[in-house]
Amino acid sequence: MPHRLIACHECDLLQRVVTLEPGGEAICPRCGAELYRDNPHGPQRTLALLLASAVAFVLANAFPIVSIDTQGLQRSASLFSAVHTLWDEEMPIVAVLVFVTTLLAPAFEIFALIFILSAVILGWRLPGLAHLLRLAVATRPWSMVEVLMLGVLVSVVKLSHLAHITPGIALWSFGALIMLFAAAMASLDTHDLWERLNPS
Ligand SMILES: [Zn+2]
Repeated sequence: MPHRLIACHECDLLQRVVTLEPGGEAICPRCGAELYRDNPHGPQRTLALLLASAVAFVLANAFPIVSIDTQGLQRSASLFSAVHTLWDEEMPIVAVLVFVTTLLAPAFEIFALIFILSAVILGWRLPGLAHLLRLAVATRPWSMVEVLMLGVLVSVVKLSHLAHITPGIALWSFGALIMLFAAAMASLDTHDLWERLNPS
């Protein structure tokens, strides 16, 4: 590939693309950042982590996050019921923000990436895949499950003085989702994915 060039994503140094040894990686000579690597099973590993993230995401939304027991009165709260309560309490902007950042954006990101990786692995040549990948990458800053988790943990600690709090299945599922999705994003090689979507 003598005429192909790649810009380092850290320092912008333009370099010639070379064919790598199996399992090898190309390093920027100026800043030491990894430019690209040979990883033939990378999409399969990322897909496995994303499928596990999808299971954790479904569980996190199907079960209560916490159960609150005050003087014999027990209430369970799931994420969707929390959004519903915010809407009913006349806080529509907060309700929409919570819905978009903790439900819509993570769901779109996870399932869009699962679809793109499945299509790449199965060799489907679909015209809209590049647009979908761009959209999934653009959605990432709006996915704030970690912020929700932090907020829930702070609330649980503060409320534990006033009521008996029992963590629900969803709380553990959100914890698993954060770890699995972080692993999936660490394993996702966007350079390799673009190469597979648009081989040149
Ligand atoms: Zn560099």
